[in-house]
Parts: sequence; C-alpha cells; structure tokens
Amino acid sequence: MEKALSTELKQLLTKEQRIVIIGHKNPDGDAVGSTLGLHLFFEKLGLNSSVVLPNDFPDFLKWMPQADAVLNFEKQNQQAIRKLEEATLIFTLDFNSFARVGDVQSYLEKSEATFVMIDHHQQPDDYATVTYTDATIGSTCEMVFNVIEALDGLEHISADIATLLYTGIMTDTGSFRFPSTTARTHRVVASLLDCGANNAEIHQNVYDTNFTSRMKLLGVALDNLVVLEEYNTAYITISQKELDDNHFKKGDTEGFVNYALSVSGIKFALIFIENKQENIVKISLRSVGDFSVNEFSRAYYNGGGHNNAAGGRSLLSLDETVKQFISILPEYKEALS
Ligand code: 5GP
Ligand code: MN
Repeated sequence: MEKALSTELKQLLTKEQRIVIIGHKNPDGDAVGSTLGLHLFFEKLGLNSSVVLPNDFPDFLKWMPQADAVLNFEKQNQQAIRKLEEATLIFTLDFNSFARVGDVQSYLEKSEATFVMIDHHQQPDDYATVTYTDATIGSTCEMVFNVIEALDGLEHISADIATLLYTGIMTDTGSFRFPSTTARTHRVVASLLDCGANNAEIHQNVYDTNFTSRMKLLGVALDNLVVLEEYNTAYITISQKELDDNHFKKGDTEGFVNYALSVSGIKFALIFIENKQENIVKISLRSVGDFSVNEFSRAYYNGGGHNNAAGGRSLLSLDETVKQFISILPEYKEALS
C-alpha cells in the first residue's frame, strides 16, 4: 500500500467516526474474512465499527471467529439500516461497484459518509475518497493485511484476525494454487500462522464439513457436465429442480465450476445455476491463460470479476441461456484455440 494512501487513511481513522464495513452480496470467504478481520483490527485501535453484509453467507463459513457480529441486511434489516444511516465512514471490501451489494445499494447511494474501497477486482468505480485497489493481489484479505501493516498495526493481529485473513486468502487463491498466489502471499500467510492461525483446522472447517446432500448434488453436476472440445470449453448446468431434489443450501455449489475447468485441455469453464426465486440464471465463469472471463461476463452476463474468475447472471431461462451461450462461442473459437 502506498504511503500517501495510508497517510490519508490514517487521518480518517478517528474515534469520532461511526464506521461501517460492507462486503458484497453472497459473501464468500474473502468477503467475510476481510470485513470481520478489519472490524477486529479497528476494535484493537479503539475504533467503533460494524460489519454489514447484504445477505447470509454459507454454513461452511459460520465457524469463522466473530461470525455472529455480522449484521445480515436481510435478517437484521432495521439494525443494519440504522448503522448505514448513522455511518460517517464506510469501508467497502471485496467489491468495487455499488451494484454488487443488492438491496444495500440505495443506502450507499444516499449516504453522506466518506467511502474507503479496499478491493482486488478489475475496473473499479470511482466513489471512494480513499481507493486502495490492486487486481494483481489474489484476495482482499491479503490487502487488509497490507493495510494493517501500513498503519503500523501488525502487533495487533490476534489469532482471530489471523484466522479470518488466512481463510479469505485460502479460499480466493484456491488454496494457494491460482497464479495470483505470490511469494508475498506466502509471506503474509507465514505471518498469519505466527499470529496463531491454525492452517490445518481452517482447511478442515471449510472443505471437510460437507453434508451428504451436497456430495449428491455434485454427482448431479458432474453428470450434467458438457465438454465442447472444439472450443476447449466445458460447462455444467444445474436446474432449480435438481437443487430442490438435493436439499440445496447456500454455498453448496461453491467450487463446482472448478471440476469443469479441471478437465484436461479446458481453457474456459462455466456453471449455469437456475434460481427461480430471483428469476435468473446465476453464472460462474473460470478460465486458464489469457482468455478474460471478466470481459466475457461484462459483455453477456451483466457481471464481471477477474481475468480468470468472474460471475454474472442471465435473465433468460436455463435452456435459453445455454443455447445463447453455444451460439456465441464460435466468435471466440480463435481466442479459445
Ligand atoms: P463466483 O463465480 O465465485 O461467484 O465469483 C467469481 C468472481 O467474480 C468473484 O471475484 C466475484 O466477486 C466476482 N463476481 C461474481 N458475480 C459477479 C457479478 O454478478 N458481477 C461482478 N462484477 N462480479 C461478480
Ligand atoms: Mn475476493
């Protein structure tokens, strides 16, 4: 983090501020870890802050330290609104456009608070007074570590803060395997272990607590896998009925798209998940190499993300969405060859 930026940030961090820290809708490990990690760090500095997330996060993250401190905008609506309306300083973490926070969006738009963005997605919007953004860093949790370091706060990293930040770094780097994992990432992680993060326990808590129903749903997903060799592309579909039949819970489909990407030779992988309640098809896109799924998702799915991992949505039916996708692919034949 640049010195000028951290100096600016330091000046904003006064005891009078009513701070609210926000993560994106459908929070993942990085969103939960970074918001709670920063919140606990602020507590150490004697600053008053609250964490508001637009909706619930998956059960496999519920063990995270201080998970109960999160105000879920859907469930604790009045409390969350009060915090947002009273806020003088709002941190937006792990997202860079108000469109990513669901119903929290209108409260951010009308807020007169000062905004700070800490985020690693591409093409950030310009709403913050302090914008710390870097698309080369694998996770917002790594960036929060950088913020803590720049504020001379490393001594305040408790075992809980270390555990939160480790979790987000681990989930967003695919357990330290994506190209965004750098030597710096490993140094940060080493510091977090020194501060009390228990790596084996964290991996187990996140990855080895599946219910049978989730494994059955994975079976359905793999059965629905389609490989289009001509385009080095693979996709998975899951219908609402298949979700219902397998007692779908939030987070159950997390990581499924990676199975499509793991097929030998595949450069572009997607999962299309029907959501009848929201009347959309939620799409996760992944790639290896230069093919930008961020661009693809911006172009067709009203979404975005990173070069190799992005998300978006379609308003067509599941069948139509897939048909449309297949009709677009020939344009990308060269890019995918
Ligand atoms: P996932 O496919 O795991 O939901 O998301 C992959 C990446 O794309 C994450 O970094 C996530 O923040 C981002 N992403 C997911 N959905 C959307 C979306 O609808 N819009 C944008 N701009 N980014 C998204
Ligand atoms: Mn992230």
